[in-house]
Amino acid sequence: MRSVKFSRRGAVLATLAATLALAGPALAQDAPAGKLPVVATFSILGDIVKNVGGDRVSVTALVGPNGDSHVYQPTPAAAKEVAAAAVVFENGLGLEGWMERLVQASGTKAELVVVTKGVTPRFRTASEPQDDDEDEGGAEKTADAHKGHDHGPLDPHAWQNVANVEIYAANIRDGLIKADPAGADVYKANTDAYIAKLKTLDAQVRAAMAKIPAKQRRIITSHDAFGYFGDAYGLKLLAAQGVSTESEASAKDVARIIRQIKAQKIPAVFLENISDPRLTARIAKESGARIGGELYSDALSDDKGPASTYIDMIENNIREFSSALSS
Ligand code: ZN
Repeated sequence: MRSVKFSRRGAVLATLAATLALAGPALAQDAPAGKLPVVATFSILGDIVKNVGGDRVSVTALVGPNGDSHVYQPTPAAAKEVAAAAVVFENGLGLEGWMERLVQASGTKAELVVVTKGVTPRFRTASEPQDDDEDEGGAEKTADAHKGHDHGPLDPHAWQNVANVEIYAANIRDGLIKADPAGADVYKANTDAYIAKLKTLDAQVRAAMAKIPAKQRRIITSHDAFGYFGDAYGLKLLAAQGVSTESEASAKDVARIIRQIKAQKIPAVFLENISDPRLTARIAKESGARIGGELYSDALSDDKGPASTYIDMIENNIREFSSALSS
């Protein structure tokens, strides 16, 4: 269990303040007059809340764009945000292991909304399709790949199935109406409009995946964040054996990955934590697989990036899958 730590506050606070300043949105503590101050635990959820809340709310994401919720530790500033909020939205399914302590520490009276309520959860361990030669204990790597995330048995990345985000939006709508009944009509209209966009997006994903030859719909990734995507849209995900998100791949790891790619005939590799371009180049050269572009799984990009909203994020990822797996 990852615990809330309020030590090391100087450095952490400075970092958080800088992040919030760069990220732009007003702090809940000084939400513009007349706006409902709300908090979302991470950037993707913050964007969904903005779509439902529209002009009536001021949204703060605790873990901002490009932020790593895997290693997040709440700060005193975060506790103040939560304390000042009228509604706090969290993903649940074990994503925010730090949330309960933060809520307690903040003493908030906010309405707490778990947006995955009603989503069919997927179990994250031993559920990844593992085929062919499993000679190196690959079955355990699914769990290993998210070390530090403290997820428990459920896969929290439900937002990677667009249909689930319709449920998120409905839960957010209901939470906002409870806190701000006067805005009910606005929240309902915003939700309907956003759900219409999500339905279009879902169809886009299906169309893009349908264009990829069935045999090509398989990737290796070091981060098991795309299980819901794979289940919903028919992409087979194979865990990179011997690589976790928190360690550098060794030469031995790389050799093992190359063998795995060849044996399982995987057309593309998305290894977020192999940042050394020489390693990436070597994997591509020796395995014949393509190296996929940047996928966004747990956080949005900043405003200038290709994934500054949830919808842009999904569009970015399907572009990357399509270009790496087609032909
Ligand atoms: Zn994750």
